[in-house]
Amino acid sequence: MEGPHAPRAVPGFELVAPASVEEAIAALRAADDGGATAIAGGTDLLLDLDDGRLAPRRVVSLRRLPWRTLDWLDGALTVGATLPLRSLEDDREVRRRLPGLWQAVHAVGSVALRHRATLGGNLGRSAPASDLIPMLLALDAEVDLVGPRGERRVPVDDFVRASRRTALLPGELIRSVRVPEPRPSAYLWQRVRPANDISQIAVAVAFSPGRRHWSIAVAGMPPRPALLPDVARDLGDGAPSDAALTAAAARASRAVPITGDQRASEEYRRRLVGTLLTRAVRAVPFEGGRPL
Ligand SMILES: Cc1cc2nc3c(=O)[nH]c(=O)nc-3n(C[C@H](O)[C@H](O)[C@H](O)COP(=O)(O)OP(=O)(O)OC[C@H]3O[C@@H](n4cnc5c(N)ncnc54)[C@H](O)[C@@H]3O)c2cc1C
Repeated sequence: MEGPHAPRAVPGFELVAPASVEEAIAALRAADDGGATAIAGGTDLLLDLDDGRLAPRRVVSLRRLPWRTLDWLDGALTVGATLPLRSLEDDREVRRRLPGLWQAVHAVGSVALRHRATLGGNLGRSAPASDLIPMLLALDAEVDLVGPRGERRVPVDDFVRASRRTALLPGELIRSVRVPEPRPSAYLWQRVRPANDISQIAVAVAFSPGRRHWSIAVAGMPPRPALLPDVARDLGDGAPSDAALTAAAARASRAVPITGDQRASEEYRRRLVGTLLTRAVRAVPFEGGRPL
């Protein structure tokens, strides 16, 4: 068979599955010049290998590492990098305390995909239309990294650079993601098909009860999901008035990160972002100016 759909031989690679974090880091480091790459659920990476975008000499599976975890400590949620998204979605406390995160996880692909896909892989891929990154931005989440030089914690906003570009150093791995506090929150998206498709535009909103401020993030277009601090300020320090919400929606539709590409025009996205923002903020439950 010839043409664009002809079968293509994927270059061979060595597959290793270390049982310890130290061995995994060493296995990544041992293949120099970007010759090694990590694999978690493989839902992104296998496509990259198949398309020839990546041709590593070694693939390091993370499946044996003890990172399929979910812990609440002093109100903070820590999610291990290799926990399948479906387990996060099945957790009642996540749904109750971080409804926006639950909605964002629920938005990823299909049930079958979420049984394999992981939070670490979503951050590692760092796609402009990721459903999880905008919500993690709005929740002020941080990424815990481990590598040849030890451990470090990086805000998601500093970790994500652009499509397939992150703050990961050679040999470094995402160990877990930390969400500092439960927040009333919501996540809304627009896409052509509900499942197995990615968002043309999405809006994540969260309210911090302690600091009494809103965080708003948008996703769907290059180079990366982004926070909109000016829009968040328009919403004030509690349940916003209709006038404040209208001002915020208008400012969001003028926001710099909104651009057009092959999946949606700039005009379409600018029209939609205000509507999604208004609906998302209204979906966050308040009573007497306080979040429920
Ligand atoms: C049909 C289909 C539909 C999809 N729909 C959506 C969607 O609606 N929303 C959405 O956000 N995404 C979607 N995706 C993308 C994908 O499923 C997610 O990004 C998923 O979370 C990736 O996780 P994974 O474990 O499969 O990553 P993998 O494919 O295993 O890895 C992805 C990248 O991250 C790196 N990586 C993985 N784990 C780590 C780690 N612990 N430390 C450092 N680097 C790491 C890998 O080296 C690789 O570069 C879809 C994909 C497909 C194929």
